[in-house]
Amino acid sequence: MASIRGRKRSGAEAHRAQPRRTDSARVQPRLSARRKARFHSALLDWFCVHGRRYPWRTRPTPYGVFISEFMLQRTGASQVVPVYRAFVRTFPTLKKAANASVGQLRRILQPLGRVERAPVLKRALDRFGTDFHSRIPRGIADLRKVPGIGEYTARAIACFGYGKQLALLDPNIYRLLSRALGLASERERIHTDPGLWRFMDGILPASNSREFNLAMLDLGATICRSRAPRCLECPLSRWCAFRNAGAKR
Ligand code: SF4
Repeated sequence: MASIRGRKRSGAEAHRAQPRRTDSARVQPRLSARRKARFHSALLDWFCVHGRRYPWRTRPTPYGVFISEFMLQRTGASQVVPVYRAFVRTFPTLKKAANASVGQLRRILQPLGRVERAPVLKRALDRFGTDFHSRIPRGIADLRKVPGIGEYTARAIACFGYGKQLALLDPNIYRLLSRALGLASERERIHTDPGLWRFMDGILPASNSREFNLAMLDLGATICRSRAPRCLECPLSRWCAFRNAGAKR
């Protein structure tokens, strides 16, 4: 989860825009079944050993995933851990959180430096109550109706919270796949590219999509960093186009 996730992400890019009609994925690599299987096993094996442990990744619930994803927007995971723990201790259920005032939410979010997000969180919690019987919906379309939830967060909740077979795409994952497989989009705001989302859904393994998504999030955040990627430690290094081309790092 990265949540399950474990890295900074732009809230605006990850949450606002809707996919446009045109498909601008510029390069969508074709992976043979054999290469795909090797790709899956390399990532999953790496994740078993090196996957990061966060409280929202242990026995994830839709509520816990939602709260962690909300906090992880533009905030590092290590900063989120104590705030997440305090939040679920104070509000162990969605109903209890929904009864909190904006002021209470603001106080608990204060260590993240994102107090301006408290009213958004309050609106989201209210919407779960009014439209979804105080439950977090399973479907992406319903999740997208909730304030503050965009395509990425909706998929993260559906995958990590409900076990749905859905891919994730964020800047770290995109960078990883651009380097390793040559994936490319003409869109600066990659999450608006439906071709990329289709590609991502197409490379999911038949099972273990949760672990696969977490592996890509963790590998993108810790190994395939934007500066100084640690290729010697990377499970994809044998067939990474970027590394094999001897690109300047
Ligand atoms: S080998 Fe290097 S550039 Fe390629 S995916 Fe791994 S860390 Fe990234």
